[in-house]
Amino acid sequence: MVEYKNNKIRVRCLECREEHFIEMEHIGTDKEQRSLGFEYEHTFRGELKCSHCMEKMRLLTIVYEYPKEIINYVDNSDESCLVMDDVNNDSFDIIKVKYGSKN
Ligand SMILES: [Zn+2]
Repeated sequence: MVEYKNNKIRVRCLECREEHFIEMEHIGTDKEQRSLGFEYEHTFRGELKCSHCMEKMRLLTIVYEYPKEIINYVDNSDESCLVMDDVNNDSFDIIKVKYGSKN
């Protein structure tokens, strides 16, 4: 599992340029069998309505953990907002957990 060092991400509304913090939450983890074991895809999502212009801003971040306990890469997709903070491999901590058979 991975966790944000700080899950409040600074964004700028594309509509009115106002700055906000979007709070990200973990919405699920998928896994896929690969040559070095499972690859875990941890998906995080944040949504916020701009308090200035009411535009709905969204940020989706997928963290690819592969091999286990190594962050391979981080993929961001934003909607109606510009991400001001760097969201990359250094933005996350690896949480060492034993993955059960259900994961
Ligand atoms: Zn706005």
